[in-house]
Amino acid sequence: MAEDCVFCKIGLGEIPGELLYSDDLAFVIRDINPKAPTHLLVIPSEHVTYLTSFNQDREALLGHMVLVAREMAQREGLAESGYRLVINQGSDSGQEVPHLHLHVLGGGRLSVMG
Ligand code: AMP
Ligand code: ZN
Repeated sequence: MAEDCVFCKIGLGEIPGELLYSDDLAFVIRDINPKAPTHLLVIPSEHVTYLTSFNQDREALLGHMVLVAREMAQREGLAESGYRLVINQGSDSGQEVPHLHLHVLGGGRLSVMG
């Protein structure tokens, strides 16, 4: 838990979020400002700030996040049509929330990245 972290607060139920899934390591909410018809966020329960802020000891956490994203994409009906997983890292990526998260985007043709 980090003070004033919106994702930590959602994880603890201190501020509302549309919680779709949770387990010991991560939880999933719907993005409040969706950039695609379906836009979910897979968020580690532990406050990890950036992709660059941890080493190989979090390999399992990252793998878990990807598998949760795949499961949620299936549940949301995206498995056949396809989807995109995105982690923003740092200012050039436009990362807004400094608590690591994996975006799951789908439900329609996505624009080209870059
Ligand atoms: P990023 O730019 O990768 O840091 O993405 C942060 C995402 O979190 C953005 O897509 C925001 O729309 C989303 N977001 C910010 N606050 C909330 C919130 N309270 N509930 C759900 N999503 C949020
Ligand atoms: Zn946090």
